[in-house]
Amino acid sequence: MSTTTKVSRQDIRKIIFDNYNETDVRFSNDEIMAHLNEQNSYREMELDVLDFEDVLLEMEGSGMLRPIAQNFNTRYYRLWGPLEQTNCKTCGRPTYFASSEEGKKCPHCNAKL
Ligand SMILES: [Zn+2]
Repeated sequence: MSTTTKVSRQDIRKIIFDNYNETDVRFSNDEIMAHLNEQNSYREMELDVLDFEDVLLEMEGSGMLRPIAQNFNTRYYRLWGPLEQTNCKTCGRPTYFASSEEGKKCPHCNAKL
């Protein structure tokens, strides 16, 4: 089901959790990219927003991201519900999902959550 991408889903979820975790806050793929670029490993990749478009589309599909506007390659979102940090019962590592999301799987060990 999931495609391989340069950008980790977990890193994007963590950025949203840390910076935009309220349903009335609007944020864009450009802003997410700016946060990714604060990490050396991503800055060296010279990312384009299209490099993680598939990840954001998947997050729309799961019921996490609510697309609200688009201007060329810039997409604006809100959250349907806040993300919650919980530790996976199988591997014990942190995950960030909205309670309403469907098909939740641990990004570390792939266990169903
Ligand atoms: Zn796990």
